[in-house]
Amino acid sequence: MTRRQRRALDSICETFVDGAVDAGVPDALLDLTPRADRRPLLALLAAWDAGGRFSGRPRAEREAALRRWRDSAIPARRRVYHGLRRGTLIPYHARAKPPTTAAVAEPRLKTFRVSGDTRFSCDVCVVGSGAGGGVAAAVLAEAGLDVVVLEAGGHYEDADFGGVELDAYRHLYYESAAPTTSDGGVGLLAGSCIGGTTVVNYTTSFRTPDAIREEWGDPFMSSDYGESLDAVGERIGVNTDEGSPSSRDEVMARGLEQLGWHVAAMPRNTRGCEQGAVCGRCGFGCPLGAKQSTLVTWLVDAQASGATIVPLTRATRVLTAGGRAHGVQAVGPAGAAVTVDARAVVLAAGALSTPVLLERSGLRGRHVGKHLHLHPTTGVCGVFGEEIRPWEGTLQALYSDQHADLGDGYGLKYETAPVHPGVLAAFAPWQDARQSSELLARLPHLSGIGLLLRDRSEGEVHATRAGDSRVRYRLNDADIANVRTGLDGAARIFEAAGATEIFSSHAQWTAYTPAAGRREAFLRAADAAGYGAGRCTFYSFHLMGSARIGASPSVSVARPTGETWSTRGLYVMDGASFPSASGVNPMITIEAIAHLNARRLAAELT
Ligand SMILES: Cc1cc2nc3c(=O)[nH]c(=O)nc-3n(C[C@H](O)[C@H](O)[C@H](O)COP(=O)(O)OP(=O)(O)OC[C@H]3O[C@@H](n4cnc5c(N)ncnc54)[C@H](O)[C@@H]3O)c2cc1C
Repeated sequence: MTRRQRRALDSICETFVDGAVDAGVPDALLDLTPRADRRPLLALLAAWDAGGRFSGRPRAEREAALRRWRDSAIPARRRVYHGLRRGTLIPYHARAKPPTTAAVAEPRLKTFRVSGDTRFSCDVCVVGSGAGGGVAAAVLAEAGLDVVVLEAGGHYEDADFGGVELDAYRHLYYESAAPTTSDGGVGLLAGSCIGGTTVVNYTTSFRTPDAIREEWGDPFMSSDYGESLDAVGERIGVNTDEGSPSSRDEVMARGLEQLGWHVAAMPRNTRGCEQGAVCGRCGFGCPLGAKQSTLVTWLVDAQASGATIVPLTRATRVLTAGGRAHGVQAVGPAGAAVTVDARAVVLAAGALSTPVLLERSGLRGRHVGKHLHLHPTTGVCGVFGEEIRPWEGTLQALYSDQHADLGDGYGLKYETAPVHPGVLAAFAPWQDARQSSELLARLPHLSGIGLLLRDRSEGEVHATRAGDSRVRYRLNDADIANVRTGLDGAARIFEAAGATEIFSSHAQWTAYTPAAGRREAFLRAADAAGYGAGRCTFYSFHLMGSARIGASPSVSVARPTGETWSTRGLYVMDGASFPSASGVNPMITIEAIAHLNARRLAAELT
């Protein structure tokens, strides 16, 4: 970095929040910037402050300059603004160290450490150890097959889950939780560690709804699929007993009940959940081992049946010959070449990486990378007189399906989730440093409701030349209309619950104090602020559909069994395989698909 680039970066960070430089934020921002964005960022910084034209100005002018990027008609500028905003505010606010929690368990897994070029030979190579990969590995290994699991992320266990927000983003999340769609419109969240996203997820465990099973057809209507749903629920301890509502949930339930709207208990995959302060941090890994992620369930089963689990090893290519998969090429720590010779390959790298692996293996196909669904999620916040401490309590204990079907089975779910300082900084509007700090200071009195949208919109994910994932996605008008219904609904819930102020996640501050006629004005202001990329904050927690299964190669990448149409012995068993958006949090559906199709594969191979 040149001195000019450094000066530009320091003054941008200081403009977003006083004290950023002393807190080491500029270096954290660089560190967290996705690989593909680093070079453009440095080029921007080189030009940003020529002659001190930014850093030399008074604070108010610097803030106004940032707001001009925020409100620019040029989408690329808005993307840069949000990248810098999040890159500054998240590291600044997400550093707090909670009191340590004594881990209850010894490490459960003994993973294989690659220390040089390595060759494995096995029956099945499973790529990815999350919801799909963990289950597939267990079912195949328990059937007596020799299984090798390759996982790009590191191996962390209960004692490593210290509850520091920023540490979790850095070590457990895909690309430090920083990637977005190419226009910056939707932040893309996924886990990247042994156990995948199941290590950081919120434990919500919905079975595949009957209407979705019917819509998706074979194999979802089969009794075998029902058996797999049961088996998954049993193994990961799905229950509604460990769901004492957090203050966030109580506020939402109070509003829903006042309105006479639907509210129900969330099924969760926990055993011995604390449901208090520790549970609120469990999105950063559960230090008590209560969350029944694949780390503590299926991968333990897989290992007990002889599977080899290999962390820090990224698959780069599926090896094929004569239309059949016969192994995987991968890169381990320090660039070690890892080769796995296998009779079959299961791709379970998640919906961002599975299609990229197919493409990098020369298996392009008409539907590879297409039909990506994101369940784009935005949030509405309410401010209350009472203290809520929204970062504490059961991850998600209640939900409402009041608007789950706004037509043709599409709509949204209302769910809460722990709001930590970094989460608020990610979603909340920034007007200037003072407003932003004051808002963060009000966090103890805030509550949030997430609008989890079942999207008709479809995006695409493809490989860049460097082998990363590049995602294109835009919300269509029908989905935006449903988001707007959700915005109105969440505002009504908060009004009924007694909020003194309500605001949305628009880039421009969009808020109101409840009184007659004010909600309508709020919605008009929200419409004026817009829902396009960089106008309103959306994150995706659910990545689905980019290598979907279906009845024929003219509509899908893989057969209902998960085997790709293009290549024998190559299977997709993760969120990428969904025929469309599931409308409910997808973990159980992914695990059930992997359970069913791994059973079928095991029967074929044994
Ligand atoms: C914060 C958060 C909360 C969530 N909460 C819930 C919830 O409460 N309930 C619910 O149902 N869903 C939830 N989800 C979503 C759910 O956890 C995921 O949809 C699910 O885990 C995805 O399963 P998967 O098998 O497709 O991929 P993942 O579980 O993401 O696993 C993919 C694994 O593959 C690895 N990988 C990627 N590329 C490669 C490669 N080339 N080589 C080797 N390994 C590779 C990744 O590092 C990762 O570990 C949540 C998601 C997030 C981000």
